[in-house]
Amino acid sequence: MFSVPVLLYHHINYDNDVLSISPEVFEEHLKYLKQEGYVSIDDEELAQYMIEGKKDWQKAVVITFDDGYLDTWVWAYPLLKKYGFKALLFLVTWNVEEEESLGFNLDDVYAGKIQMDKLPKCEAQYAIIDGFRHKVESKLCWSEVRFMDKSGIIKVLPHSKMHQKVYASDKIIGYNRPREKLSYFGDVAGDKRYGTLDFDRKPEFAYNEFIPDKDLNDMLHKHVLDNGYLDFFKKENYKRELDEIVENYRQEKGSIGVFETDEQRYMRVLRELKLVKGELETEIKRKTYSFAWPWGAYDEISIKAAKEAGFKYLFTTKTGANIVGSNVLEIKRFRVWKSDLNWFKMRLQMYSSPLLARVYSYLKK
Ligand SMILES: [Zn+2]
Repeated sequence: MFSVPVLLYHHINYDNDVLSISPEVFEEHLKYLKQEGYVSIDDEELAQYMIEGKKDWQKAVVITFDDGYLDTWVWAYPLLKKYGFKALLFLVTWNVEEEESLGFNLDDVYAGKIQMDKLPKCEAQYAIIDGFRHKVESKLCWSEVRFMDKSGIIKVLPHSKMHQKVYASDKIIGYNRPREKLSYFGDVAGDKRYGTLDFDRKPEFAYNEFIPDKDLNDMLHKHVLDNGYLDFFKKENYKRELDEIVENYRQEKGSIGVFETDEQRYMRVLRELKLVKGELETEIKRKTYSFAWPWGAYDEISIKAAKEAGFKYLFTTKTGANIVGSNVLEIKRFRVWKSDLNWFKMRLQMYSSPLLARVYSYLKK
């Protein structure tokens, strides 16, 4: 029996980041897959194998990209095409540029139309917002997304609209204030006006949201506005001033907010999943059946909502074996995050073997 390794990539670019693999290393991976006789299959072919045992290959992989950055178009798509592979792209729809024009990519270099140095830059940039650095990513535009999807080389599937978190605790960890944001995703769905309450943040689909009272947040935010706004946070005791407002409020009202119920979360997740599925399907004009959880975070409630929203196959970031009889609602993937080719070879071999994949994933726990 064969276990289908599902590879998870994020960036193909030159950033020095665990989520980035350089185009040269990515090409090495593709060369190696080809040399070893692997073919690439898509989500539905994988499911067919896992459910019915049907296959017309000896060794197969599923190549996936999460989030959808400009480098998927500039580097990944032409390289996949060059080696005759196909892949899945789990796209964050909010992250797609509205502007409609096909930018240059590596194919234009291959065709002699442009020099390598004219390729769009795909490395992260930083913007200064309220005096602090914020990471900015180069985005795909919808025409590139549609072009790749139509080509049959990169099949586009949803990965959420916002890729955001929710406040998932009622323990105050601080107050929203100007600060560095060096991770691109992870914005919070709740109130983030300066001065408002900040709590532990968790992936939106897997946790019940804590919703602080709006009156309290309004009071806190107003206090910040009335006392110098950005300058307010330069005060040494700014926290104590806000703490006092919270304590007075808590004493008067007895609580500072409520958690959503499981049922409410189910409805919220269902709404979000239907929204992103519908939005993507409108853009690419075809049905989608697979979804990948942002940060790989999910639970029984989110799986139920995903099924109700019309998804049949769910991609996780858990490692393990994908064999005949494995659950297509919990497809295993492994992150390709090291540039070392030997590391890649080892993982590929391991996740192709039902036994090794299971043993290794068990040991990792
Ligand atoms: Zn993601």
